[in-house]
Amino acid sequence: MSGHDLLALSAKEAADEIRHGHVSADELFEAYRTRAAADAAAGENGLNAFTWVADEAPAPAAPPSKQAPLSGVPLAVKDLFCTEGVPSQSGSKILAGYRPPYSATVVKKLAAAGTTLLGKTNQDEFAMGSSNENSAFGDVRNPWDRSRVPGGSSGGSAAAVAAGLAPWALGTDTGGSIRQPAALCGIVGLKPTYGSVSRYGMIAFASSLDQAGPFARDVTDTALLFQQMVGQDSCDSTSLQHPEAIELPKGVDLKGIRIGVPEELTGDGIESGVRDAFNASLALAEQLGATIETTHLPHAPHALSAYYLIAPAEASSNLARFDGVRYGHRAEADDLLSMYTRTRAEGFGPEVKRRIMLGTYALSSGYYDAYYGRAQKVRTKISEDFSNAFETFDFIVTPTAPTVAFRLGEKTDDPLEMYLQDFCTVPMSLAGIPAISIPNGLSDGLPVGLQIAGPAFSENRLLRAAYVLEQALGFDGSAVRRNGGAS
Ligand code: GLN
Repeated sequence: MSGHDLLALSAKEAADEIRHGHVSADELFEAYRTRAAADAAAGENGLNAFTWVADEAPAPAAPPSKQAPLSGVPLAVKDLFCTEGVPSQSGSKILAGYRPPYSATVVKKLAAAGTTLLGKTNQDEFAMGSSNENSAFGDVRNPWDRSRVPGGSSGGSAAAVAAGLAPWALGTDTGGSIRQPAALCGIVGLKPTYGSVSRYGMIAFASSLDQAGPFARDVTDTALLFQQMVGQDSCDSTSLQHPEAIELPKGVDLKGIRIGVPEELTGDGIESGVRDAFNASLALAEQLGATIETTHLPHAPHALSAYYLIAPAEASSNLARFDGVRYGHRAEADDLLSMYTRTRAEGFGPEVKRRIMLGTYALSSGYYDAYYGRAQKVRTKISEDFSNAFETFDFIVTPTAPTVAFRLGEKTDDPLEMYLQDFCTVPMSLAGIPAISIPNGLSDGLPVGLQIAGPAFSENRLLRAAYVLEQALGFDGSAVRRNGGAS
C-alpha cells in the first residue's frame, strides 16, 4: 500500500489489515510519524498540534502480540497524560521538559492493547481553555482554516486527527475539552461517564470532573478505542467497572428512541448556522424513527457559573503541588518562600493564575458556603434535572458548541466570552454523564457538532445512536485529512 492509502484507513481498518498481515505496522507508523514530525518541525507555520513526536515506534515491552486487538495502530496522546520517559507538560512552562517515571493507567492499557505512541499533543495549559491559545507551547491551528482555533483544551489531539496526522487520539474533558474541539474540527469525541476510565497519571485539573476519552474520525473507531480504555483501577478510587462490555456500534434506525431537546440549552446564544445544522439533524433523527420533544433542564442555565467556581476551586488545590521542589521549572531565589512564589509566578500562564485566584477565593473561609457550597448545591440540582429528563427520554441532544471555530485572538481579551463556549457541554460534566459529539454538517465551510448525552454508563446506546446518525448524515472530512491541514 502507498503511504496515502495507509493514511486513508480508519483505525479499525488498519488494525484489521495489520492482523491479517496485509499492512505492516512499521510502515503505518512511519507514514503517520513523517506527517506528525513535519507538522511539529513547522512550528506555528504548521498546525502546531504536537509538543513531542516519537523518533521511531517504541519497542514493545513484550514480543509483539498479533493477538493484541489494536496491534500496531499509532496513537496520539494529550500532553497531560503521564508517559514514562516522554515529556508530559500539560501545556505549561512550569512542567517544561518534565519526563515522568511512570505512565498513566490508560496509556498503559492502550499500549497493552497494541497501540504505539506516536506523539504528545498540544493543549491549553492544565486543560484550562476552549481555544488552545493558553498553551505555553504556542497556539494550535484548525486544519479547516488555519486562521481559526481548533477549540480546547484538547485542541492538539483534535487538530491532529482531523488533519490526518494521527488515526486517533486521547483527550480529556472536564467541562467540554473533548466535545468542543471535536465539534470545531469535524471529528468524533466522547466524554465517558465519570469514573469509567482511570484518572491515574493524568495531570489533574479538576478531579471531580476530569475524564479521559477518545477522539476519532468516526464513531466505530471511537468505540474501538474506548473499549480498551474502560475499567476499574486500584490506583484511582473514583474509578468503576463499566457494567457493560463496550461493543462496536451497529444499527440502521432510531425506532423507539425518545430524544429530548432542552429549551434552556438550545435558545439564545446559538449561532444561526449551528442552529440550522441542529434542526436538520433533529429532522433526520425523526426520519430514522426517533421521537423528538422539547424538554427542560431548569437549572442548566446556572451550570456555567457553578462550573467556574467548582473547577477553579479544585484546580487551586491540585496545582498547589507545583512549587519548584519536585517537578519542572524552579526559580532562583535566596529563601524558600521566594523560590515558591517566583517559581509559580514565572511558571504559570495568565489563565491558570486567574483560575487559581478564583478558586482560592471561592474556598476561603467566610466565602466557602456562599460560593463553593452553593455551587455544589447547583451541581446536585443539575444532576436531578438530568435524572428527571431520562425518565422520559433516552437521550438529550444539543449543539456541542454555540459557534463554529472562531478566529485566533477573537476571544482572548474576554474570558467570559470564551467561557460561553462551554455552555452546552458543562451541564453533562457536572452530572458526570456520558456525551458524544459527532460532526453534523458545515456552516460557512466550517464543521458543526451535535452533542448526544445519555444516563451514566449508557455508552453502548449512545455510540449506537451516534453511529446511526453518522451513517445518515454522511459527513465527509477526508479532504482536510488528505491535505494535512495545509491551507
Ligand atoms: N473550556 C473549559 C475550561 O476552560 C473546559 C476545559 C476542559 O474541559 N478541560 O475550563
